[in-house]
Amino acid sequence: MFRTFRKIGILTSGGDAPGMNAAVRAVTRAALSCGVEVMGIYRGYSGLIDGDVKPLGLRDVSNILNRGGTILYSDRCPAFKTEEGMKKAVDTCRRLDIDGIVAIGGDGTFRGATDLTLRGVPCVGLPGTIDNDITSTDETIGFDTALNTVLDMVDRLRDTCESHARCNVVEVMGHHAGDIALQSALAVGATAAVIPEIPFSQDELYEKIRRNRKLGKRNFIVIVSEGMGPDYAPQLTQQIQQNTGVESKFARLAHVVRGGQPTLRDRVLATMMGEAAVDALFDGKSNLVVCLRHSGIVLTDISYALALDRMYKGLLSPGELDAFSPEHIAEMKKTCDERRAAMQKMYDALNRLGL
Ligand code: ADP
Repeated sequence: MFRTFRKIGILTSGGDAPGMNAAVRAVTRAALSCGVEVMGIYRGYSGLIDGDVKPLGLRDVSNILNRGGTILYSDRCPAFKTEEGMKKAVDTCRRLDIDGIVAIGGDGTFRGATDLTLRGVPCVGLPGTIDNDITSTDETIGFDTALNTVLDMVDRLRDTCESHARCNVVEVMGHHAGDIALQSALAVGATAAVIPEIPFSQDELYEKIRRNRKLGKRNFIVIVSEGMGPDYAPQLTQQIQQNTGVESKFARLAHVVRGGQPTLRDRVLATMMGEAAVDALFDGKSNLVVCLRHSGIVLTDISYALALDRMYKGLLSPGELDAFSPEHIAEMKKTCDERRAAMQKMYDALNRLGL
């Protein structure tokens, strides 16, 4: 062990995701197995500011591996972004002898983790979000469960669409990312997916529906990512009916996709990532996010992960890459290209195979 850890904290922050509990369990048990105490920090960074913290023993994390949500609860905490809030959070760590923190959440949570690390509380992040919108990891904790929930819901909609010869437009979560929409569309055999990353032709969709209706197809499923904006999917539903004559219904799955028991894949991912986070922290590493890359668990610097993310989303500001070597920048571009190519490939397959 690089430094003597007496006690670490664990928190879940930002949007919750199935599998967060599995990560809490893994982190807790991995730390306890090294003789290090664990403090559960409730309501994300809000709990750190307020001192809403309780010790977690081996048994406190029993029977949570299979539960959705997060036993530590989650919160969005604007106060944490202020110098005063940050100071209170650091004071809580000092007062309670918390030597390091594992923070489970998305990019906002990781920014907070960096701020704490800079103020002397080493942090490691775990990517917990259903949206799969963290570019440095191939998969986030919660994504697989969200996909399977969409699958179950849309399979049901398809049954009734088939009976009544209808179209159902289904809006799914994903924040600004189309991963849930695209992958679930492939898996349910949808006619189309509409996602923010790839331009979409409504006219081609109407034509596809008209053509296949003439050939006898009864049900049509169109999956829309919430990243298209709240009005897009309801309006598309009306347009499909007007332009094809096929009766069309709209369904917004919304937060139902956030809940439920984590799948096997999310439980395994959360468990392996949670253990890796503790090992990294106890090896003296910090300001890292644990990622899945090409089927292996790797550690990525948070500042690298955040810059990569902004590169992928086209949000880089001038000079933002100055701190990185040409090799790192080339590697980031390669990751972005790989991710875009994988998405395009799925999109093309959907258009080719989905009727
Ligand atoms: P997510 O982690 O899912 O992206 P948010 O963006 O809501 O969710 O971030 C979760 C929390 O992380 C915020 O409520 C805030 O407490 C903290 N946070 C977000 N951005 C920053 C930042 N720039 N600096 C410090 N803390 C931040």
